[in-house]
Formats: sequence, C-alpha cells, structure tokens
Amino acid sequence: MAKKLKRRKPETILVRNDLYILWKDGHESNYPFFMLRDGCPCASCVDEITGEKRLKSSDIAPNIRIRGSDYVGNYALRINWSDGHNTGLYSFNFLRDLCPCSTCQSEQADVAISS
Ligand SMILES: [Zn+2]
Ligand SMILES: [Zn+2]
Repeated sequence: MAKKLKRRKPETILVRNDLYILWKDGHESNYPFFMLRDGCPCASCVDEITGEKRLKSSDIAPNIRIRGSDYVGNYALRINWSDGHNTGLYSFNFLRDLCPCSTCQSEQADVAISS
C-alpha cells in the first residue's frame, strides 16, 4: 500500500506582481507580497512560545517586494524581502494553508467545523 503523505509540494514558484505557486496537484495560489510579509512565521515576527504576533502590520511598507528566494531543503522557501528581512522560512505546508483562494478558504472552514 502506498504511503499517503500529506506533504504539499510546489511544481513552480514565480515572483511576479505577487508570489505565484503552481502545486504538484495542479492547484494554483497567488499570494500578495504584503500578506506574506505580514504572515512571516520567523521568531522575530511571531513569539515562539506564545505564538503571538510581534510584527506590526503598520510597520510593513505597503510596497514591500520580494528581492529573492531560496529553497530550504525540500520543504520550505526562504524569502528575502526588500526591507532586508530574510529570516522567515515559509514551509510549503504553511504556504498551502495560507492560500487565499476561495476553494482553500472554504476547505479550511470545513476542517474547522468537523474537528
Ligand atoms: Zn519574520
Ligand atoms: Zn487555494
């Protein structure tokens, strides 16, 4: 029996006017830069112990851009932001959960109800 891994893998990642990800299952996600920067999961943006957000949305430049990005292992993307911030590792599972499209948002609502 094949092992069913829930790991989501991207097929293509492109930085355009937003961050575009084509997933191996054919799903497409578009992330506005501001939203991604605002959701940065690193220890200086989110308190590791309480999970509380330390980053103020008002401190983020509205025209924030991605300068560059690197794959980390085969599970995450490190984003180098135009404000110099580059400690955020966006795991693919995290990114997929963050997908702002209506399909994913309604799936998440279903999960919340059934759990
Ligand atoms: Zn951060
Ligand atoms: Zn989606």
